[in-house]
Amino acid sequence: MRKVDTVTQRKPMTVAVTATGDTNPTNQFNEHKIALQDKENELCKSILSFRELIFVHSNPDATDEAQDSADRDIAVRNLDRASKTLQNVRSAQDRLEDGTFGECLRCDEKINPKRMAAVPWTKYCIDCQDYFDKNPEEEQVINLAAEESPVYA
Ligand SMILES: [Zn+2]
Repeated sequence: MRKVDTVTQRKPMTVAVTATGDTNPTNQFNEHKIALQDKENELCKSILSFRELIFVHSNPDATDEAQDSADRDIAVRNLDRASKTLQNVRSAQDRLEDGTFGECLRCDEKINPKRMAAVPWTKYCIDCQDYFDKNPEEEQVINLAAEESPVYA
C-alpha cells in the first residue's frame, strides 16, 4: 500500500478543518452534522420519487411500454445508488456521535479534512477508496466485519 502524507494527515480530530475552514471542534461537529442531515433529507426525497417512478407510474398505452421500462430501469439504478449513499450517510452520523468520524474504516488513518468537507459521508481515505474501486469484492468483507463489531476502540 502507498503511504503518503501520513505524517501531515495524522493529526487529532480537533485541528481538522471543515468546508468553511472552521477549526473550532464544536462548530466542526455541528457543520458536519448539518451537512449529513441535509444530505439525508435530500436522499430520502429522491428515494421517494424514484420509488414512485418504479412502483406507481405505469402507462397503459402499449406504445409507451418500452420507454416506461427504460425509465423504470434508470429509476431502479438511481434508487439503488441513493439507498447506498443514504446508508453511508447514516453510518457517518453514527461515527460522528461515537467520535470515530473522519477515520478511515480500512486503515484507521485520519481522512484528509478536505475530503471529509467535500463528502462528509465518505468511509475511506483516498488510498483505501482507490483500493476498493479496484477490488470491490474486498469492501464487502469490511462492511460485514463492521456490522459485526461497530465499535472501533
Ligand atoms: Zn485508509
